[in-house]
Amino acid sequence: MLTVEEALQKILAEVNVLEEETVPIMEALGQVLAEDIVSNINVPPLDNSAMDGFAVRSEDTRGANEKAPITLKVTDTVVAGGISKKEVVPGTAIRIMTGAPIPSGADSVVQFEDTDDQKNKDASSNQRPGQVSIFAETKPGQNIRLAGEDIAQGKTTLKKGTVIRPQEIGLMASAGRSQVKVIRRPVVAILSTGDELVELDKPLPEGKIHDSNAYSIAGLVKRYGGIPRMLGIARDNEKELVKKLKQVQDADVLLTTGGVSMGDYDMVKDILARDGEMVFWKVRVKPGKPLAFGKIKGKDRNGKAKSIPHLGLPGNVTSCMVSFELFVRPALLKMMGKQNLAKPSIDVIIEDTIKNNAGRRIYDRAIIEKRNGHYYARLTGPQGSGILSSMSLANGLVIIPEDTKRVNKGDTVQALMLDWNEEVNI
Ligand code: AMP
Ligand code: MG
Repeated sequence: MLTVEEALQKILAEVNVLEEETVPIMEALGQVLAEDIVSNINVPPLDNSAMDGFAVRSEDTRGANEKAPITLKVTDTVVAGGISKKEVVPGTAIRIMTGAPIPSGADSVVQFEDTDDQKNKDASSNQRPGQVSIFAETKPGQNIRLAGEDIAQGKTTLKKGTVIRPQEIGLMASAGRSQVKVIRRPVVAILSTGDELVELDKPLPEGKIHDSNAYSIAGLVKRYGGIPRMLGIARDNEKELVKKLKQVQDADVLLTTGGVSMGDYDMVKDILARDGEMVFWKVRVKPGKPLAFGKIKGKDRNGKAKSIPHLGLPGNVTSCMVSFELFVRPALLKMMGKQNLAKPSIDVIIEDTIKNNAGRRIYDRAIIEKRNGHYYARLTGPQGSGILSSMSLANGLVIIPEDTKRVNKGDTVQALMLDWNEEVNI
């Protein structure tokens, strides 16, 4: 049976980076830049003040202190977005607000706190005295933000390949870019299989269950940047399955859940082997052993034949989610042009004793917390693969290697982090 790494290699070998698209910057969160962002403007556009204060010539402030203030004539006020037409000539100052351009002649800004301005705070501007007392010396350049110090005109601000986070969206906005070229998001067709499954708004006949996999899987697809395409439920018969598979059309990936075990009605893998191409079935992992991977025939956007990677995820509610984290997530990230495909893992001290009789790599649901400088992991409770609430309680998966028969309370093991939430407290 394939190891987790071998199975992942086979999957990654069959998926490629998708094409580029141009999108509004607001929609590009989490996507990868497909172009260098070169700004055609400087940000800030002009040298400007980092403080509310007075624009002065530093030589005019030489020797100023609380006991021996220097008095300058105030000739103008300039606010952010304004420009002063006056020049700061010897013996004068211009009142200036944060972000306002430095008037010509000035080489520094003395902040209000180092002047007698606060004393005059409540006076309206035409009642303000025409002079200010300065209590501190300035050095040339003091409190001045230079033109282009954030984004320099003509220089590469963001490199192709960068993953777009909120700060990159802000940088593009600063540079005046409203649209950006990125690697497009994968469209992921999601199909649930099973005679027992009922759609959400329908009543539940005896013995039936709601289809939850389609929704947890769609949530994962969205979380990692893909676009889910919900195909609904296929009953456990060949005709319906084949019909549903036709709806996959131009999707970039097909995910099915269920129908890959050894049961009489588990025909997904058989149809995959017959109508598509089966690359592997079964991985040395728990939960998630009966993972099937192959390719089905589909069409691209222009109607040309293409083969679509198909991951047949196990039907059990936790197995399909764990299989997604291990195998689907890296595939989607690769398609989106990302380089770092691994989720973070850390060393944790296990607080339960766990046996491994299966000879497979175990990923048990755990609550991971930092205490006294160490990470501790305790199981969420029963680990049955039908217990979805165990996923809901967990913020990580503790890993018991395939050839380790048992880990004891107090041993150190690796944990794959599902979330870095408050509880982990890094
Ligand atoms: P299977 O892999 O089809 O044998 O399914 C294994 C288990 O997972 C069975 O108990 C199914 O009822 C359950 N299961 C399969 N598909 C779903 C689904 N879409 N939502 C919730 N449970 C499911
Ligand atoms: Mg089934």
